[in-house]
Amino acid sequence: MDGEVVTGANMENACYRLGLCAEQSALTTAQHAFGLDRVARIAVAGGDGSGGALKGGAPVTPCGGCRQAILEAAHLSNRDIEILASNGDGTALERLKISEFIPNGFGPANLKDAE
Ligand SMILES: [Zn+2]
Repeated sequence: MDGEVVTGANMENACYRLGLCAEQSALTTAQHAFGLDRVARIAVAGGDGSGGALKGGAPVTPCGGCRQAILEAAHLSNRDIEILASNGDGTALERLKISEFIPNGFGPANLKDAE
């Protein structure tokens, strides 16, 4: 683990379901930069940006699809990936593990029974 950092951003699309979350964007970048098996933590931040700068509020956490993607990266690394969840202005921060978001996760190992 060398502390390399990659970033991601939400990619909005007029057809909403074709958008891409920042977490999955960052995981894709990590995959190409050093491999998903080396991901140790993911930081997410978000909030109301209508005034030009993000505002406070509650910390933003990954959506269900991103939680699954993070869980599968955790399975590859044998690491309980840490998620740093912040609100828009950084005044509230939560540190959680992916196992706390998905305590009984479903991953590739579960598919082995179907082979
Ligand atoms: Zn998401």
